[in-house]
Amino acid sequence: PAKSPVTVVGLGPMGATMAAAFLAAGHPITVWNRTAAKAAPLAAKGAALAATPADALAAAELVVISQTHYQAMYDSLGGSEAALKGRTLVNLSSGSPTELRAAADWAAGHGAVLLTGGIMVPPPGIGTPGAYVHYSGPRDALDRHRATLEVLGRADHQGDDPGLAMLFYQAELYLFWSTLAAYMHAVALVGSAGVPASRLLPYAAGNTAALAGDGPMGFLKILTAEIEAGAYPGGENSLLMQKTGAEHLVHAAADAGIDTRGPAALRDLFQRAVDAGHGADGLSSVIEAVRNP
Ligand code: NDP
Repeated sequence: PAKSPVTVVGLGPMGATMAAAFLAAGHPITVWNRTAAKAAPLAAKGAALAATPADALAAAELVVISQTHYQAMYDSLGGSEAALKGRTLVNLSSGSPTELRAAADWAAGHGAVLLTGGIMVPPPGIGTPGAYVHYSGPRDALDRHRATLEVLGRADHQGDDPGLAMLFYQAELYLFWSTLAAYMHAVALVGSAGVPASRLLPYAAGNTAALAGDGPMGFLKILTAEIEAGAYPGGENSLLMQKTGAEHLVHAAADAGIDTRGPAALRDLFQRAVDAGHGADGLSSVIEAVRNP
């Protein structure tokens, strides 16, 4: 069957790769970018180049947007609001949940539907196995365009609240960055005694894999159950003991002459939970200090 047309607005590294993926999958593609010259490689592959944002909106019911921020969408389409009527906008740019909710209202005000999305791969990952996108907004709009959007990666609908896509996206990025930043502190700690990172690697790999597992170190699942139950049993691993351990970590980092602020932030977080009365509880009680800054 004929593939449905798609308009792609924004041809940075992400948008250009998305447009190429749609083209490779057989979709007729129209592109628009503030800097028109970036469309040349796509035009050579068969994409139509819209002269104006209004022409881009007229070319397809499905409009995929990938730009630096949400302001770029207003800067690009803001003068062509009449052409928004009946369109499904899919914005895969980064922004705050508040910006996403405001954008959904803006689209609705002009007769369009907005699906927000957070795409969890860099440009080379687009359309590869394992790629996925957190979507939020009206589920029926996603279901209507699912086959097309899954050219980019699996489409996971997280809910109708348009802010959810970025909450999931930011949550995953925080996990990614903080885990890897902790690895860099760990590498620097052993490195202060001349140990190369490669000697720590197998322990780091085992440690992080165990966290996601089912064993006694499977703390992702353990914490999830405790947090959802709202019960934080300390047992033989009290938070007070772990706060003391975090203090030792700060001292070790200082002795090693490396950055102490990451470890100190961890210790301070634990300290606040202890101060709030969770010393005899378990690690999961730290969620209270995170939720109540
Ligand atoms: P950029 O953030 O560099 O986006 C560049 C695009 O935004 C270009 O098309 C640029 O137009 C356009 N743009 C920026 N400001 C404006 C404006 N005021 N008006 C009109 N157009 C504007 O590149 P990426 O492609 O890397 O990222 C796109 C989005 O995807 C970002 O929100 C990013 O957070 C997100 N993302 C990126 C990932 C990555 O690995 N790169 C991974 C996952 C998500 P012009 O060419 O004219 O400058």
